[in-house]
Amino acid sequence: MKILVLNAGSSSLKFDLFDSEGERRLLRGSIDRVADMQTAFAAAYARIAPALAGETVGAVGHRFVTGGPLFTEPLLLTPGIAAQLEGISGMAPLHMPRNLAAYEAAAAKLPGVSQVAVFDTAFHSSMPPVASLYAIPQRFGQDYGIRKYGFHGISHRYVSSKYAELRGVPLAGLRLIACHLGNGCSAVAIRNGRSIDTSMGFTPLEGLIMGTRCGDIDAGALLHLIIRGAHDPVELEKVLNSQSGLLGLSGLSNDMRDLHKAAAEGHAGARLAIDSFCYRVRKYIGSYLAALNGADALLFTGGIGENDAAVRAQICEGLSALGIVLHPAANQTRKPEAFPIGSGPVDVWVIPTDEELLIARDTLACIAG
Ligand code: ADP
Repeated sequence: MKILVLNAGSSSLKFDLFDSEGERRLLRGSIDRVADMQTAFAAAYARIAPALAGETVGAVGHRFVTGGPLFTEPLLLTPGIAAQLEGISGMAPLHMPRNLAAYEAAAAKLPGVSQVAVFDTAFHSSMPPVASLYAIPQRFGQDYGIRKYGFHGISHRYVSSKYAELRGVPLAGLRLIACHLGNGCSAVAIRNGRSIDTSMGFTPLEGLIMGTRCGDIDAGALLHLIIRGAHDPVELEKVLNSQSGLLGLSGLSNDMRDLHKAAAEGHAGARLAIDSFCYRVRKYIGSYLAALNGADALLFTGGIGENDAAVRAQICEGLSALGIVLHPAANQTRKPEAFPIGSGPVDVWVIPTDEELLIARDTLACIAG
């Protein structure tokens, strides 16, 4: 039997096939511009069928963007669980309906095959109230579930355990700061393998500057725009999610590679966007050094974190007083596996993420009971 991992995004369906141990990747692919999930799943299945080599799909693992207040462990999907998830899909309206549609498409095509949901929020359920609660009347938490949930949890859990594995030390006892810098970006403070604070919040909008998301912003500024009638709230949601971040600041692109090119040619907006991006990450690293009382390692992952030596250098520049020193030559390394880039008092590593591998492992563990 083989393990299929599905990651249904807002416009794509990514799929990875693993062996029965959930350790060896046999195939990976993606269907882009998904209009209908049943059709997309059928197309994905046609691509994995040859790699099954006569075996069956024994289980399907899904990345679910949020378990909200309901779920913090991987769990077997049933129609009843799916209905509960549908009830909280408003917490991630771009992603949850897609995640659920992928479950339904797989259930229709592979009846009787166990399907498991693995939640991006789960890793952060260990955050203490001082980190997870917003300072608003507590009834907002009780009545509407308003608090920080955090996201990118599967990636943060992967890179933190990978670091411990590479160093041959137990996760317990380590203080880690992980930065997942891709289109979406988040930082996390990890103590003893558990998230104690993270930059994303009730939604994936809070925290770092992202490709098209603004990250931290004064709620008062948004109220000002809404109450004065300058902006319709639905329109504002689009602006903050899809037209802000690197794209909004640069007025040019949400893609870091485009921004480097433009900045080198003198584009002031591109320079501002890169500088602001790096500054925001530095601030979070500083705050998590305080939250953890120092750190054993700083880890970079995601498309930017794994590939962009200039951004890593700019983030870490002048942090020697905090124990963070990059080796310029090591930082220029490019390779698909993990590599160290600094070894001041704080170890600094690049660790390519592999969320699907963790989902495959969690799926196997879940169906094993
Ligand atoms: P997602 O969050 O959608 O999975 P990625 O993790 O692939 O996205 O990150 C996308 C970002 O990574 C883009 O800003 C892109 O410019 C950046 N990126 C990817 N490769 C490189 C590279 N070689 N150098 C600099 N930035 C890169």
